[in-house]
Amino acid sequence: MQYFTMYNRPMITLYLDMDGVLADFNKEYTKYDPQKEDRKKFRDAVLTHKIFEKLDFMPDTQELLNHVSKLNGVNIEILTSMGTHEPTQANEAKTQKLAWLNKKNIPYKANFVHDKQEKAKYATPMSILIDDSSGCIGPFIAAGGHGILHSHSSETIAILDSTILKIHSVFAMNVLP
Ligand SMILES: [Mg+2]
Repeated sequence: MQYFTMYNRPMITLYLDMDGVLADFNKEYTKYDPQKEDRKKFRDAVLTHKIFEKLDFMPDTQELLNHVSKLNGVNIEILTSMGTHEPTQANEAKTQKLAWLNKKNIPYKANFVHDKQEKAKYATPMSILIDDSSGCIGPFIAAGGHGILHSHSSETIAILDSTILKIHSVFAMNVLP
């Protein structure tokens, strides 16, 4: 882990959510459970249909990935929920998600949690989470991180750039005499 960049600024870590940001979970999942409310159908979609390996990109995933790949002084990682505490299903979700990242040539380190709130464990004044769920963003901000509620890459990119500037300016103020 690199803590400082070449300009002696602290390294920012940017966490990217998968489902709803990089991967179009909803489009595939509605084939199995149109009402989106059945835990058993979700379990089935994971264990039987290996849903997490089958997902398409979101329509504007490339725009976001292109942008973040060019950021300086930002360590990029994946932060994704397996959506369950049940060990068999969680392990299967993790395996499928890693296979998907590999297949899509997304090279970033992947971190796995069991539910939305658990993402807040990764919150620091130097970390940013891009996520489409307010159930993830709320706890992340409450824990002291920077959260960007994602719906479109173009808006997220604009907020991301200003968030990075804000973190750098807060850091610069703190190190001035
Ligand atoms: Mg999501």
